[in-house]
Amino acid sequence: MGICNGELISQISNPDSPLDIEEFRRQGHMIIDFLADYYQNIEKYPVRSQVDPGYLKSRLADSAPYHPESIETILNDVENDILPGITHWQSPTHFALFPCSMSIPGFLGEVLSTGFGTVGFNWMSSPAATELENVVMDWFGKMLNLPSSFLFSGGGGGVLQGTTCEAMVATLTAARDQMLRKIGKANIGKLVVYASDQTHFSVQKAAQIAGINSNNFRVIETTKSTNFGLSSDSLHSAINADIDAGLVPLFLCATVGTTVATAVDPLRSICGLAKQHEIWVHVDAAYAGSACICPEFQHFLDGIDGANSFSLNAHKWFFTTLDCCCLWVQDPNALIKALSTKPDYLKNQATDSNRVVDYKDWQIALSRRFRALKLWLVLRSYGIVNLQKFIRNHVKMAKHFEGLIAKNNNFEVVIPRNFSVVCFRLSPFALTGNQKIMSSEEDLNEINRKLLESINSSGRVYMTHGMIGGVYTIRFAVGASLTDYRHVELAWKAIQEHADTLLNDLCV
Ligand code: PLP
Repeated sequence: MGICNGELISQISNPDSPLDIEEFRRQGHMIIDFLADYYQNIEKYPVRSQVDPGYLKSRLADSAPYHPESIETILNDVENDILPGITHWQSPTHFALFPCSMSIPGFLGEVLSTGFGTVGFNWMSSPAATELENVVMDWFGKMLNLPSSFLFSGGGGGVLQGTTCEAMVATLTAARDQMLRKIGKANIGKLVVYASDQTHFSVQKAAQIAGINSNNFRVIETTKSTNFGLSSDSLHSAINADIDAGLVPLFLCATVGTTVATAVDPLRSICGLAKQHEIWVHVDAAYAGSACICPEFQHFLDGIDGANSFSLNAHKWFFTTLDCCCLWVQDPNALIKALSTKPDYLKNQATDSNRVVDYKDWQIALSRRFRALKLWLVLRSYGIVNLQKFIRNHVKMAKHFEGLIAKNNNFEVVIPRNFSVVCFRLSPFALTGNQKIMSSEEDLNEINRKLLESINSSGRVYMTHGMIGGVYTIRFAVGASLTDYRHVELAWKAIQEHADTLLNDLCV
């Protein structure tokens, strides 16, 4: 007798239970309808939340209700009190930071896995959760054309972490312990970690957590001459200086698609250099890694075979909900040696047989969600062909925006575009060429800062900024699932209008 049998359901339906099945069905439908309406109306909301700090406290009760409240009442409060404090990441005019691209299978896969409520920390605790993760990580790795040494089928393997920060802590810890086994634990103070000035701060955080001496965190300067990618010559000098000082080079974080400029570090040369010194290389492709499912972007991964680990966030630009960081390693044993614990209460035959993966030994936490399900749904529902189409469409829209900038002398592209992010600013010409004012780089930075704030305050469009080589840069990041050319045009119109107002104000 199946669970779908009406008689059985009515028997286990129990209004006093936290999981009354008929209520589950009714409220579940309501929430989906609520979200469908939200997406239908999303363009009506200001993209960046307009509330002031502390706005919510005065709207809500001082303490939790003693008696239950209906879902209808609660959803009403979501609409009136919570929505104003939400920045609408799924809005088609959200061009800030990096995308967090939603999709139907990404969302429903999340619902499905949460609905099963499994806690798949080891194989035995939910075999499908582990085995599906093994399968999708190999599928995805093949789509990216990763060397087979990163796949389970080739002796490596992949794991779904929550975020890149977690992946970074896991790999840095593995690298640290591998090195300390060789040079002795007492030498931990000699270990050195390398990054560029464009590398995401997650590696610095990981170094702090892993007990790396804060004086031994090297930030290597990048310049316009390499489009803000790491220069292997600069890296070489830094490594040599450390060796001369009696220190031990340990870990290098290279990036494909840096956070501000989406710059790409030259993997082949820096991995070659790292190999000579037995430095663990982690390649962080949190945003841009997804583009590498398209053959025309795979050259950015040339040399990845020389890296020890590689990660990307499927929750950024791969239509899978937060959180879903995909991490591949060439040597799973290095991770396992650093992160494994074997409490007696989890002892089981499958683990003892050594024929299964116990993912608790590949990550920081014990408990873990069934994230593979949503990635599997995304991969199957769209197929490689449509996923490539989505990515290419975003890139084409970014290219279109870049073309609009190029045609207007008041603006300039600050650094060549690699993926779907355009870095631009009001140009020096907008001020001096129009004889408005003479301006220094600092003036120009300040004016661009004002321009961005004025656009974002309007709520029509949301973009964010970054400093690249001392230049205040506005970033236009395409990647929200609902974005179309119409929204790019709308953003461009808003940018020009706000710039005209700002420039006119400067004249008076
Ligand atoms: N690496 C890069 C290049 C990023 O841009 C980001 C965030 O935007 C991260 C790492 C951090 O990602 P997470 O929030 O998953 O830790």
